[in-house]
Amino acid sequence: MSAQPPHPTLLIPGPIEISDEVSQSMSHYAQSHVGQPFVNVFGETLTMLRDLFQTKNPNSQPFLIAGSGTLGWDLTAANLVEPDSFAECFSIYGAKPKQLKAPIGDRPQLPEIEAALKEKKYKAITVTHVDTSTGVLSQIQALSDLIQKVSPETLLVVDGVCSVGGEELHFDNMAIDVALTASQKAIGCPPGLSIMMVSEKAMDVFKSRKSPPGSYYASFKNWLPIMQNYEAKKPSYFATPPTQLVQALNTALKQLLSQPLEKRFAQHHKISKYVKDELTKMGLKQLPTDPNNAANTMTAIYLPEGLTPPEILPKLMAQGVVFAGGLHKEIAAKYIRFGHMGVSSMDEARGDIDKALNALKQGLAEVEKAKK
Ligand SMILES: *Cc1c(COP(=O)(O)O)cnc(C)c1O
Repeated sequence: MSAQPPHPTLLIPGPIEISDEVSQSMSHYAQSHVGQPFVNVFGETLTMLRDLFQTKNPNSQPFLIAGSGTLGWDLTAANLVEPDSFAECFSIYGAKPKQLKAPIGDRPQLPEIEAALKEKKYKAITVTHVDTSTGVLSQIQALSDLIQKVSPETLLVVDGVCSVGGEELHFDNMAIDVALTASQKAIGCPPGLSIMMVSEKAMDVFKSRKSPPGSYYASFKNWLPIMQNYEAKKPSYFATPPTQLVQALNTALKQLLSQPLEKRFAQHHKISKYVKDELTKMGLKQLPTDPNNAANTMTAIYLPEGLTPPEILPKLMAQGVVFAGGLHKEIAAKYIRFGHMGVSSMDEARGDIDKALNALKQGLAEVEKAKK
């Protein structure tokens, strides 16, 4: 039995359901952010991030900063790109990045990425591991191999906000330079923490900057000594960390790392396959055009012709299940999204997945009946 008050099961692509232990950690009593007990917890949490991202290089640098997943983008842009090369990075920092697009449900293909990388020298290439809007999964290893082959100086930046903790991602083996995520998705903690691992190579790029980062709060310069001190269990201050959230993340990571990551990835794969097979049996199509392109942390589901999210989502809610509507602007009115990561996937005894599938089945049947 859950110690949490009864509530609709939250099965969107983040925030997700949290365990009782994580929930209880959020009501930790007040602590000084520079007192030894909290310093120890923060330091241990940073060290656990090394295991989560699977890096053994002591010069890989974890960052844990109050903010949401989007802060990871600002951190990347503010620290790893210089004004003179802004044209190669993110538009908000004054740039015109080259964007490779794919049809809905697919991902850019390696030959076109190779052609682009050969056109000119890019400072960084960014890839979204799980595209939260379409449920499409990117192949990071293949992309990494390509970069190593044709443009080894280009930094590989992975947006793993909807993947880290649910999809296979190996920071060292995949030669990733920046992997960024957030607390509220596959890690299973409430929202509010931007989580990031930065490679030695990317830290060297940062350290050899000629101009200071174009941000104050998102500057590595301000945060690097703080992270290093906390990990060495020494108090340090730049801006106050959210102490209860760090307690909750500490608990979530301990639960997550209590078994091999491979087992966790395999369980997410198993549940994802089950969900996708059941949806197919119900006659529902998914956005990814090829099952090999489909994420394991979520599923983007086309609704039957003519049915829209505002018609079906309240029927799910009435049965205690929360799904998300479509996000991709071209087809948002035609599909819904089912997040199946974290405890909802790992703890089958909760019954979250079957509850959701049954609610969808019943909701669709009701709509069908009303039409007759
Ligand atoms: C959720 C998400 C984001 C944004 O994260 P916020 O915490 O909402 O800022 C970015 N990228 C991906 C892939 C996501 O799933």
